Amino acid sequence: MKVLVCDSISPRAVERMSKAGLEVDVDDKITPEALLEKIGPYDAMVVRSRTKVRKPVIDCATNLKVVVRGGVGVDNIDVEYAESKGIRILNTPGASTHAVAELALAYMFALARPVVQATESMRAGLWEKSKFEGIEIAGKVLGIIGMGRIGQALAQRAAALGMLVLGYDSRTVGAAPYMHMVEMDELLEKADFISLHIPLTEQSKHLINAEMFAKMKQGVRIVDCARGGVIDESALYDAIVAGKVAGAALDVFENEPLTDRKLFELPQVIGSPHIGASTKEATGRIGDEVADLLIGVSQEPCS
Ligand code: NAD
Repeated sequence: MKVLVCDSISPRAVERMSKAGLEVDVDDKITPEALLEKIGPYDAMVVRSRTKVRKPVIDCATNLKVVVRGGVGVDNIDVEYAESKGIRILNTPGASTHAVAELALAYMFALARPVVQATESMRAGLWEKSKFEGIEIAGKVLGIIGMGRIGQALAQRAAALGMLVLGYDSRTVGAAPYMHMVEMDELLEKADFISLHIPLTEQSKHLINAEMFAKMKQGVRIVDCARGGVIDESALYDAIVAGKVAGAALDVFENEPLTDRKLFELPQVIGSPHIGASTKEATGRIGDEVADLLIGVSQEPCS
């Protein structure tokens, strides 16, 4: 089986697949144009979030049987179209849960205590002691939108820090001692921090918009380690300028790589270039699961 690895995965995963007899080519900086030229002979593709597997790629992939997405969201793949061509889409949904939950938690702390802005001030040679008064996390209300794997992992950690955790999800989520499931309006009204953990879908596109910001508590802090496009970035900008939102931490953006830097002109905004799953441990787990999946597929009897 010929495998094209289009985004970076662990060397151990490549080694395991090669040892299992798969013919693996790594081209983890491949451009969209080069991918169209190259994909033809491959049976399998490995992608993370960088490579887009849209209709033109699928049309050129005349031999493709399986795409493995190392990670959770498959929104960079035209799943329906691929499946209509008999191509299977597999992913590694649980491998990045701790990494993303911990990044969201790190951002909650960084929004409570302005460590990023204080570091920038120190680098500029300043000693602005009175400028950086923060707030405490203990006793605050955290609203989590999307109570799946990552949302629940964050809820457990936040409850252990003395936060009251309110969760909202579009599906029914079973009760757990560390959270209360509520309606969206109650969450928006009561939360001091709101963290997003939902996929980007037609329903969730711009879910967090001007109307939603209007319902939030004055001085709310927002964390988005889910997907760009769930927050309406221009409504977020207005809500920060108006003083409604005291801080926002963003790992994901409507357009990646980021081109419009308007939000980062605001000192209340901190962020990162979509690194939610980028820990040594998650990278190792994702690679192991990708290798397990593809070795498994290669050993299936031909139908
Ligand atoms: P999950 O499928 O376990 O949980 C997602 C939850 O969101 C589900 O419970 C679902 O019912 C709920 N949901 C979906 N649409 C909703 C809506 N419109 N309103 C309310 N709830 C809704 O997924 P997960 O593993 O917890 O991952 C959550 C998201 O995190 C992923 O979809 C992905 O986009 C994002 N993610 C980001 C990174 C990163 O690098 N920043 C890494 C991994 C995952």
